[in-house]
Amino acid sequence: MGEVGVKERNKEQKSDESMNLLTSTQIVIKEALEKLGYTDELYELLKEPLRMLTVRMPVRMDDGSTKIFTGYRAQHNDAVGPTKGGVRFHPEVDEDEVKALSMWMSLKCGIVDLPYGGGKGGIICDPRTMSMGELERLSRAYVRAISQIVGPTKDIPAPDVYTNSQIMAWMMDEYSRLREYDSPGFITGKPLVLGGSHGREKATAQGVVIFIEAAAKKRGIAIKGARVVVQGFGNAGSFLAKFMHDAGAKVIGISDAYGALYAQDGLDIDYLLDRRDSFGTVTTLFDNTITNEELLELDCDILVPAAISNQITAANAHNIKASIVVEAANGPTTLEGTKILSDRGILLVPDVLASSGGVTVSYFEWVQNNQGYYWCEEEVNEKLRKVLVQSFKNVYDTSVRRKINMRLAAYMVGALKMSEASRFRGWV
Ligand code: GLU
Repeated sequence: MGEVGVKERNKEQKSDESMNLLTSTQIVIKEALEKLGYTDELYELLKEPLRMLTVRMPVRMDDGSTKIFTGYRAQHNDAVGPTKGGVRFHPEVDEDEVKALSMWMSLKCGIVDLPYGGGKGGIICDPRTMSMGELERLSRAYVRAISQIVGPTKDIPAPDVYTNSQIMAWMMDEYSRLREYDSPGFITGKPLVLGGSHGREKATAQGVVIFIEAAAKKRGIAIKGARVVVQGFGNAGSFLAKFMHDAGAKVIGISDAYGALYAQDGLDIDYLLDRRDSFGTVTTLFDNTITNEELLELDCDILVPAAISNQITAANAHNIKASIVVEAANGPTTLEGTKILSDRGILLVPDVLASSGGVTVSYFEWVQNNQGYYWCEEEVNEKLRKVLVQSFKNVYDTSVRRKINMRLAAYMVGALKMSEASRFRGWV
């Protein structure tokens, strides 16, 4: 299932790390809007989602008891078009995190120039301890609970942490039953036989590879032989490790929520992929593991945090040895962490750019659903590469021109479209 990760650090944040994801996102959005010359009114509009729905869902468990689950759906800004973004199932989902994630989706959609605003959903649950039946009932309950505010032209969900194509299929089926017509465009990340797109499952990782190539070129690093560390072995991390391995890079470290593996001469990625479970867990099979903290500080050329938020902080940013950090996860580096990496001359490709491959192919899936005509994998990948190469260029050039780090540059590029759309609509 989706991106696997470690969340322990969130609990023990200090200084800027005590700031939650929403606050730190607001700080960068404010700075980006100021640099773009927009008024405070626009910041007031964009600093929180336009809509946030909290739902409580009774679900019958296998033992006959009823459990009440809490879920959220945030819709940040729909000036550009319907909102779009994944649904995560995780025990530590909270309201502010979902809000911040919806804002990042707006930025991602702006960066890759999609006709969407940002949305995000989450349910507080631990799918690792739930049966398939319980997961199905929870997925369907969530769709019934949020059905009034979602839909193919309103808000389109997708997979995220610990959700996958099976969960998308149940959600699509529930929505289609409620509406009494087949609605494949209600959700993306579906199985191919239900209107999913070729290339969607691997899209986030495929995108990260494109950004790694672009960043490595800027730093004069050859992919062949480059030492790569990937934190997280879920959807993004595992495919990424495989792609980098196949491209001739040496993947010397990987991790999951329970620990990390390290091999100086490169890990046997095919073996690990074969042994991972559906939540991306594989390190539990080995005795000789290192910690996630040690993994991040390994001597390598390229570090890819592909797990969860707040992994590179003021506490460890000074010890990062990679010359390029590409954020495949959402929010893996705190603001202080970002500053330290930038001051140290490390090229940081920020999450809102680096992880935009997923939503880009989700858009392609939605377009195919709407037109009822489907593309082959080559066509999807070709279109994806074109969009992402251009997006990297826009953000990189902005960072060089403005002499700012790539995170701020990405926020500037990403905020532009929704800001202009909000202005044209007369909202500010
Ligand atoms: N959950 C993914 C993300 O954070 C994909 C969202 C989508 O495909 O709509 O970008």
